[in-house]
Amino acid sequence: MKVCKFGGSSMASSDTIKRVADIIRADSERKYVVVSAPGKRHAKDIKITDSLLTAYAESKKGGKLSSLLAPIKERFVEIAAGLGVTDKVDLEAIFKEIEEGIVASPIADYAAAQGERLSAMLLAAYLDYDFVDAKEVIRFSDNGVFNAEYTNDVARRILLKKEYVVMPGFYGSTSVGQIRTFSRGGSDVTGAIVARAVKADLYENWTDVNGFLTADPRIVDHPRKIPELSYRELRELSYMGANVLHPESIFPVRKANIPINIKNTFDPEDPGTMILPGVLQHDRLITGIAGKKGFVSILIEKSMMNNEIGFTRRLLSVLENLNISFEHLPSGIDTMTLILADSEIGGKMQELIGGIREAVSPDRLEVQSDLALIATVGHGMAYKPGTASRLFTALSRVGVNIKMIDQGSSELNIIVAVKGDDYERAINAIYEEFIN
Ligand code: ADP
Ligand code: ASP
Ligand code: MG
Repeated sequence: MKVCKFGGSSMASSDTIKRVADIIRADSERKYVVVSAPGKRHAKDIKITDSLLTAYAESKKGGKLSSLLAPIKERFVEIAAGLGVTDKVDLEAIFKEIEEGIVASPIADYAAAQGERLSAMLLAAYLDYDFVDAKEVIRFSDNGVFNAEYTNDVARRILLKKEYVVMPGFYGSTSVGQIRTFSRGGSDVTGAIVARAVKADLYENWTDVNGFLTADPRIVDHPRKIPELSYRELRELSYMGANVLHPESIFPVRKANIPINIKNTFDPEDPGTMILPGVLQHDRLITGIAGKKGFVSILIEKSMMNNEIGFTRRLLSVLENLNISFEHLPSGIDTMTLILADSEIGGKMQELIGGIREAVSPDRLEVQSDLALIATVGHGMAYKPGTASRLFTALSRVGVNIKMIDQGSSELNIIVAVKGDDYERAINAIYEEFIN
């Protein structure tokens, strides 16, 4: 039996939803379906989730909620009409309820979740499948942390009683019924949770590209597809920015050894990418390249820091006290560099610098902003000397200066930091060297 998750572009309009339904009906093993909210129909379009978040924020600033929700409602009315299910889903009543729900809601999660909820209701009506609300199945703790084991038991019990189900992705609820969401792109995680709960043979993740590509297609022109990927390679690539699959979707399926198949709704015959447990046998050196912008480095220099017992602990406790997590911490004899995401630092840069000065009294402290991280990932590099030098030569050839190097202890991944402006050029240079 298969669990299928369809992403935002697959659920964007009644036409694409009809394609989705054709795919589901083409294989009777496709029994459990998880969907995203309608996404973009064209490059300039707005995802429903973004519209809902804007409506929430504007309404809390005093905007008129019914007007803010009107374009969202219109889009769902259009989809329902296109699918011919207007008599089965009472959008008037549901939007009234959503308006009340948003007014009563102190956090944005309830609003953000409504796109998935409606998208699932409409597809369930069109297919004549059972609609199961994610709030009954996916459990978060009261402070918003996903509760995997509790959810697995509940999901298994509820879902296996039904034969054909459509369920919204992205959200769940706490024990007192408050709606909570995963981070953006989280419907992938819901699909994986459902796959584990019903012990699926395969988790199909349907999107708008022919699988996991060797690089971001928005940066590299027509990157090659990765036919097979290991769980560990997936984790490294998705964490480092290959957002075709949410980085946390690996955990539930890994517990149950379920393969993931990334497929294209708009080219369903293409075999896509298979993501499998273990180390895959093939002769490629590099599996893929991923990266993200928006990092800062803080270089801390102090003579003899290596002899100072507790130096690193004092440094890291500054981060802990400010509730900031770090990405990398490469160190030399008298230097240590913190690499942090801008999103983690928020407005706390001054406090952070002050805290570091106070905690470790550095001789020198240097901040560099606007950095990008690039990960070059593949099991192959563990057995092949010279990979790093090829990578560095490729970057120097195009004049890209490397600000930091971190080859994780896994030997599966070499991460470099470069200036944000060099990001696209660096990825293309690495692609040319190893993949093209
Ligand atoms: P969905 O709405 O189906 O969940 P997403 O937009 O979340 O789809 O993910 C698919 C998109 O991810 C692709 O359209 C592509 O632009 C982008 N992407 C970034 N890196 C990669 C990669 N390595 N392989 C495939 N797609 C990638
Ligand atoms: N709709 C949500 C988002 O846009 C979740 C998802 O699509 O997976 O992030
Ligand atoms: Mg996605």
